[in-house]
Amino acid sequence: MYIINIPYFILGLIIGSFINVIIYRVPKNISIIKPRSFCPLCQNKIPLYRNIPIISFCLQKGKCINCKNKISLSYPIIELVIGIIWLIASIYLNTLNEILYFSIISTILIAISIIDYKYFIIPIQLSITALIFITISLCLTQDFLSHIDGLIIGTGYLSAIFLITWALTKRQGLGLGDIQLVLILGYWLGDLRIFLVIFLSALLALIFWCILSLIKGYDNKRALPFGTFLSITAILVYPIKLNTFI
Ligand SMILES: [Zn+2]
Repeated sequence: MYIINIPYFILGLIIGSFINVIIYRVPKNISIIKPRSFCPLCQNKIPLYRNIPIISFCLQKGKCINCKNKISLSYPIIELVIGIIWLIASIYLNTLNEILYFSIISTILIAISIIDYKYFIIPIQLSITALIFITISLCLTQDFLSHIDGLIIGTGYLSAIFLITWALTKRQGLGLGDIQLVLILGYWLGDLRIFLVIFLSALLALIFWCILSLIKGYDNKRALPFGTFLSITAILVYPIKLNTFI
């Protein structure tokens, strides 16, 4: 790591702070621009100088300066995770294009994974934003073919599982949001890596379900945030270099 990587970390923290706004507001249909940041507990506006990622949280000892209520630890953790993603990308990837591409898509995926975990929805606005960034990057690198392939194969595979589950159990095992997400991930990752992501996500979901069943008792109607597992494994699988089918 060099001094040149530090600005990427700081940029990641600032973007992470904005992602916190998106995670809080998009599922509630509140505009992400206006009003300015406010305390979710007392609605008091937060001035810019008290809205510095991580530092403000530490200085205020994790409490709102106005109502003294505790601020969720998830805010600084999300900022830190996104800061670290931007930092790692800047260390291991070679060109500015590659760094921005990986960091931006991973940041959107972190937002999707947390929103799906909390609310069981995958906002279409975030999916479309990812779709636009991937298309721009693929136009620049002229690497369309294997990625369109990934989009079709991944979506087709998951749609088949969706239909079979529904036909056999009359239950909707997967959400339409999951299929929409796989479409984007297949587009981002290409054909072989999307298979790996779907397999690892299913495995992760199964482990998670077993742990939950041990803690909270067996419940066959328990829903799992599959989009969360898909997003996290996609970020981890992306750096793996795999040859594509075509
Ligand atoms: Zn407050």
